[in-house]
Amino acid sequence: MGTTSLAEALQINNWIGGASSETTSGRSGVAWNPATGKQIAQVNFATVEDVDHAVAVAKAAFTGWRTTSLSRRSEILFKLRNLIEMNRDRLAEIISTENGKTIADARGEVARGLENIEFACGIPTLLKGGYSEQASGGVDVYQIRQPLGVVAGITPFNFPAMVPMWMFANAIACGNAFILKPSEKVPSASLLLAELAQQAGLPDGVFNVVQGDKVAVDRILAHPDVRAVSFVGSTPVAKSIYETGTRNGKRVQALGGAKNHMLVLPDADVDAAADAAVSAAYGAAGQRCMAISVVVAVGTVADPLVAAIRQRIGRIKVGPGMEPGSEMGPLVTREHRDRVASYLDKAKEEGASIEVDGRDDAATQREGFFLGATLLDHVQPGTRCYQDEIFGPVLSVVRTQTYADALKIINENPYGNGTAIFTQNGGAARQFQFDVEVGMVGINVPIPVPVAYYSFGGWKSSLFGDLHMYGPEGVQFYTRSKVVTSRWPDPGTSAVDLGFPQVR
Ligand code: NAD
Repeated sequence: MGTTSLAEALQINNWIGGASSETTSGRSGVAWNPATGKQIAQVNFATVEDVDHAVAVAKAAFTGWRTTSLSRRSEILFKLRNLIEMNRDRLAEIISTENGKTIADARGEVARGLENIEFACGIPTLLKGGYSEQASGGVDVYQIRQPLGVVAGITPFNFPAMVPMWMFANAIACGNAFILKPSEKVPSASLLLAELAQQAGLPDGVFNVVQGDKVAVDRILAHPDVRAVSFVGSTPVAKSIYETGTRNGKRVQALGGAKNHMLVLPDADVDAAADAAVSAAYGAAGQRCMAISVVVAVGTVADPLVAAIRQRIGRIKVGPGMEPGSEMGPLVTREHRDRVASYLDKAKEEGASIEVDGRDDAATQREGFFLGATLLDHVQPGTRCYQDEIFGPVLSVVRTQTYADALKIINENPYGNGTAIFTQNGGAARQFQFDVEVGMVGINVPIPVPVAYYSFGGWKSSLFGDLHMYGPEGVQFYTRSKVVTSRWPDPGTSAVDLGFPQVR
């Protein structure tokens, strides 16, 4: 526990209708600085009434916003893009302070989020429909896409700015009004984004933020005026949000957890594979949904690869994200750090060997929620530390003798978010791309997060819903299609005809 009392701590409130909006719920949470272990803010949780208020304000704002021209929307998004760029360091500092990731990583997060705003600046082109002249005699048919109305996004702790941008950039560009419910662990980045959107000229009420927990989420899922819900978080919550939201008649895309495998074939360059594995496993302390958490080493590559990874782990500097030189920050909360650490003894009981134990890292002596990089070898599929999404700096090595065995392990895993293959054999890589049942695949690329003009999404238990997030599928998600059949006949040719209309 830190020294600041809750009463002295910064108060974090909702943002509704272009202004800070205090709740009367009396329910609150604590935002921690994971690097110091101190509480930095009190997050005041929204009530059902606060959510209802936000939806009513958004619904009123939608009426005007959907009539705003595409070029004006694009202009506002372009201004927002520039304002976020100008505030990149401020945003990164907020992210690092509340989430713990290093400042460089936080800047990278903002950059990847910005890609989505840049994509949405092209909304006049993205919303172009189709037109068929003379579909029948004197009849034209065309398709347009229209916004849904009030839509909501519920986001996780690990990307306080990027994941909201994945959602709201397209949602707003398409003409919807948006309600964001950020993770209660990292509430501040969304408020800065809302302020910047206002400065960019976005009409008040088009972008709102409600702080809080399940109470706010449940109301969003039940509210009849919320048309669509985007969710990113853990798999059990994603599944339940998808089921409840769709039962309530909403369009839902719910992205869940992951267990991302990196397959290393015997012909791979061991140093390059080790660099990639270490970067992708321990960046952001392993708290990325696209982090590599399992290396599947095929045949003779296993021993030199494990040795090369060990060597690199020894050089990782763990420390506060804001401290110059830190390469890996703390975990988001004390409870999460302890949960991740609890897997290490479990792994040993399950027959794995602990090659590097993160509990021995000097940074664990600090006040914050630190755990060093950990390497487990000889991990068996079916054990808890293989099956569970640990979501921390723990990399497991599974050894197999053949490509076929490795592929079977990956395809039998319930998650299917990301995967990567490391090889110098183009044919083997192409075969893997064809065979693997995972939504995002890297070929000698360990974290294959698609650029903003493709869409992001996993398979199996990593995504519930039909459409992936952001990019072209994001535009599809936030709009519905309307097809118009029109003719302008000479009234003199009109006659009653009870037959079913046919093309002539
Ligand atoms: P989480 O599921 O605990 O929380 C996500 C959001 O849901 C938060 O806003 C939280 O307040 C809310 N929430 C939590 N429990 C709820 C409940 N019972 N009912 C309603 N709402 C609830 O996830 P997290 O710990 O914030 O984030 C880490 C998880 O997110 C990991 O599993 C990670 O893999 C996943 N993630 C996935 C992706 C992806 O694109 N697939 C991206 C980032 C993170």
